[in-house]
Amino acid sequence: MNEVRTRFAPSPTGFLHVGGLRTALYAYLYARKHGGKFVLRIEDTDQSRLVEGAVENLIATLRWAGLDFDEGPGKGGQFGPYVQSENLPRYKQYAEQLIEAGHAYYCFCTPERLDILRQHQTAAKLPTRYDLHCRKLDLEEAKKRVAAGEKYVIRMKVPMTGELTFNDLIRGNVTIAYKNIDDQVIMKSDGFPTYHLAVVVDDHHMKISHIIRGEEWLPSTPKHILLYQYFGWEMPLIAHLPLLLNPDKSKLSKRQGDVAVEDYRDKGYLKEALVNFIALLGWNPGDTREVFSLEELVQEFSLERVGKSGAVFDVEKLKWMNEQHMRLKTDDDMLELVKPILKEKHWGAFSDDYLKQIFGLMRERVKFPQDYVETCSYLYKDPHSFDEAAKAKSWTEQTPVLLQALLERYKNLEIFDAAAVERELRKEAEKQQINAGKFIHPLRLVLTGVAVGASLFHLIEILGKETVVRRMEFAIKNF
Ligand code: GLU
Repeated sequence: MNEVRTRFAPSPTGFLHVGGLRTALYAYLYARKHGGKFVLRIEDTDQSRLVEGAVENLIATLRWAGLDFDEGPGKGGQFGPYVQSENLPRYKQYAEQLIEAGHAYYCFCTPERLDILRQHQTAAKLPTRYDLHCRKLDLEEAKKRVAAGEKYVIRMKVPMTGELTFNDLIRGNVTIAYKNIDDQVIMKSDGFPTYHLAVVVDDHHMKISHIIRGEEWLPSTPKHILLYQYFGWEMPLIAHLPLLLNPDKSKLSKRQGDVAVEDYRDKGYLKEALVNFIALLGWNPGDTREVFSLEELVQEFSLERVGKSGAVFDVEKLKWMNEQHMRLKTDDDMLELVKPILKEKHWGAFSDDYLKQIFGLMRERVKFPQDYVETCSYLYKDPHSFDEAAKAKSWTEQTPVLLQALLERYKNLEIFDAAAVERELRKEAEKQQINAGKFIHPLRLVLTGVAVGASLFHLIEILGKETVVRRMEFAIKNF
């Protein structure tokens, strides 16, 4: 078999859709598993949809996810250009070749005419499609009109009767009747090809062996197959991935949640978790395992295990997946994730050792890297607000006196660790003949500003004597 070459061919619309990431991931996994190449191609033939910076953003997002491509924009490769707008003469040449061979024709129908046609068809409850008006034109006549500067598009001819059957690696044989396929425009009046011509020309020239793409392209496949036949080229193998669905089984949409990979990244989802979660949207390993690294996915992936039915994008599952991957992170990995968050907040510099102690304290309580910062800001700075309800519950007239006594004990401690601070607190409670809770609850409030959190004595050890004494003195004086 020839080398496996897959591609991801997004249109640069401004962000990477999670469905796009799934397509890219499967194409990447398939290529890597078979020792092949993964190509990135930018399909920017629709000039009206261009968004500034979209290509750079797309590449940065793919890189963030860990999907390195072997050939593509900025990377180069033997089969470029990898951006379609840089390849216009080639598409034009192929469109003209189809005209000469009688497989395509110039069409001069104006948008107004097509509009009226559509309105009539809609009113008559007919399918809206081109009425082949220009298909009958004499080619020499048409060429004269083109030479005279008349506006035109080029349409491919689709047989008027019969049907086409092709094999999809996921769906098996798929049959579509020609009567349901329009004479598709392949070159637009602005000189740009449409997606249909460009995708076929590029997949052929880039020697793509397997086309892996979303189900929404399935109805277009017969047009592409016809083009391969007209050119006399071998058709790559093709696989259409199942749709992504909202929990209510409608097509995944922005209205029901985030659809941009960047949104999940910015919310603190780990790339490992997102990639793992996305991998399972349509594919399964054949057993109950769910947590995979990218390398493991490469080993395990196969198109045979991709299903036909839509896959529900369940954010709760994604959160769960994030927790699983958070647990797999080493302290050093976590430092890399947490330090930039702290830096952005300008909360000051903390040593790696200090941060690692925080990881130890909070590990069971966090779901996202930013939780190491946001759910325990008191580990980085003195609290400046205090939970009023908790204060009302735990603070009595006697509390400052009790805390003062405890403070004296703490000041005298030489070894200020969790065991020592707990021992001293219990001793003082015994001395005062009161429940230890009378110390513990106000002390937590004074040190953290809130009523619940990680183990108090360990927290005190991490904060250190100086900070604990300062916060206690402040509360005794000001509460
Ligand atoms: N440019 C198409 C898209 O944006 C690619 C479809 C295909 O992979 O053939 O999804």
